[in-house]
Amino acid sequence: MCGIVGYIGTKRAYPILIKGLQRLEYRGYDSAGVAMISETGSLNVYKAKGKVSDLEAFCQEKDITGCAGIAHTRWATHGEPNSTNAHPHYSASGRLALIHNGIIENYLTLKEKLIERGIQFRSVTDSEVLVQLVEYIMQNNGIELLEAVQVALHQVIGAYAIAILDREHPDTIICARQSSPLVVGLGDDGAFYLASDASPIAEYTDKVVYLNDGDIAVLQLGKELKVVNMDNETQHPKVKQIDVTLGQLEKGGYPYFMLKEIFEQPGCLRDCMRGRINVDADRITLSAVIDYREKLVSARRIIIVACGTSWHAGLIGKQLFESLCRIPVEVEYASEFRYRDPVIYPDDVVVAISQSGETADTLAAIELARKAGAFVFGVCNAIGASIPRQTSTGVYIHVGPEIGVASTKAFTGQVTVLSMLALCIANERRTIPGEQYKEMVKELTQIPDKMEQALKTNEQIERLAPIFTYAKNCLYLGRGYNFPVALEGALKLKEISYIHAEGYPAAEMKHGPIALIDSEMPVFVIATRDRLYEKVISNIQEVRARGGRVTALVTEGDTQIQKFADHIITLPDTLECFQPLIASIPLQLLAYHIAVCKGKDVDRPRNLAKSVTVE
Ligand code: GLU
Repeated sequence: MCGIVGYIGTKRAYPILIKGLQRLEYRGYDSAGVAMISETGSLNVYKAKGKVSDLEAFCQEKDITGCAGIAHTRWATHGEPNSTNAHPHYSASGRLALIHNGIIENYLTLKEKLIERGIQFRSVTDSEVLVQLVEYIMQNNGIELLEAVQVALHQVIGAYAIAILDREHPDTIICARQSSPLVVGLGDDGAFYLASDASPIAEYTDKVVYLNDGDIAVLQLGKELKVVNMDNETQHPKVKQIDVTLGQLEKGGYPYFMLKEIFEQPGCLRDCMRGRINVDADRITLSAVIDYREKLVSARRIIIVACGTSWHAGLIGKQLFESLCRIPVEVEYASEFRYRDPVIYPDDVVVAISQSGETADTLAAIELARKAGAFVFGVCNAIGASIPRQTSTGVYIHVGPEIGVASTKAFTGQVTVLSMLALCIANERRTIPGEQYKEMVKELTQIPDKMEQALKTNEQIERLAPIFTYAKNCLYLGRGYNFPVALEGALKLKEISYIHAEGYPAAEMKHGPIALIDSEMPVFVIATRDRLYEKVISNIQEVRARGGRVTALVTEGDTQIQKFADHIITLPDTLECFQPLIASIPLQLLAYHIAVCKGKDVDRPRNLAKSVTVE
């Protein structure tokens, strides 16, 4: 959600800032802005509604000189997306400029107090309060910026990553974080880079510092990075090696990141399993399970907390843990769980799933579980993000940066990690026979090859897609392990094509949604060969009897369903519990091609953000 970029060094800041904003475009935003201290010492702020390219157009003919700058893409929470509400915000005197990611919850109280003291506001955002408050404190107390930031943040309630430029100190950027991510890059030439994640920094340096909650960092050209807290106590965050390569941040010949990421999945899952499954493909080793064996093996219950696509992965995890480990599982929306006063036992294991590792609701759910004494396990993609740091242990999915807003490879990565985790725990608990464990591990290692086969349906799906662009509503049906696949397929379509879609357990259809079915309604059924195959066939017949148009995903060799489906998409066979990894592929492709046919911006769907750092 929203992007922050900063640079202070000896090169021109503007091109670095713009490129950085472009690298963060995937996070979702509605306006953009930049502030730089020019060669002549003026603090210039330029802002535009729309894309980073609109900001660039606006900046033509403007003074874009200077080697110090901060830049922002805004995902509006307070105030409509327009150029006034866009960041950076000037302080009243014009000496400071500030960018902010997050929400200031007590901004109204602070704003009223500042207005009483004669300060005029230009925007209606919560963020502007911060810059006005900081300057007011500086002027009123005759103190410098760092101290004023410390005093101000003591008064602020909410989530923030902020960066501030001071016209009087053109060699320094001050930044701070609380619940919103911020990464500092250390250049070899004494320069500093700043960003919401490592992607804008990767091409300049491989040395980064992930700031922690409560950190305030002083980036002063040519000096050591200084990190303190609100009480001016020195902090010692570690310098880490960056984990992102430039190739991972480019489209690599694909028209959209989403298509690239769909096609990357076989390789991503190989990376995810590498070093965890041995060469004989009969044993899984997860260090988290070795280190915390007792906690995991003796769990009384597993509670999975997640949002969106990760929640769908959690539903698959539930079936895996219950059937393989015989541990009861609840799957919770993090946003509901955190406010519901749930019953949590000290011997519960809470599994938090989030691609970005920064999802605000999931972080809050983790906090709640920790306070209740539960053991918290993270399943994340972004290395060094907040969730991996706030959980007792966990497993990275290692699928590389996911840039497309609609999640694809992170979903299959999450399901793969949950599969490995369930198999490990089941083996330790002896809830599945040793032979079955080995066979299942072997089959899991075959999944990337089978995914490659499933990706061959791309051309067929591209041809089918135009048929569905007229649809106002679509239904996705599946049972057992394929029910979450139906939910995820429907979510993909909604997210990027804006066609209304619902996922349902196929048998539940007759309790309501069947009323919607007519010849206008495309119905996608996951009807692969498993325990419920015959039942799903009956469900397809129910749809057909009402004139519904059925597209079925079937297992290769299926001869029955083609007799009554309008279209069939054939997939390789695998174990029932791994079917979601295969069946998701054609549904991702279907959503992608329908959205492209409708002329939608697949990588940047409207209203959506990639990393949801506000609740
Ligand atoms: N709450 C702030 C605003 O609406 C910042 C939003 C963001 O994180 O982009 O301006």
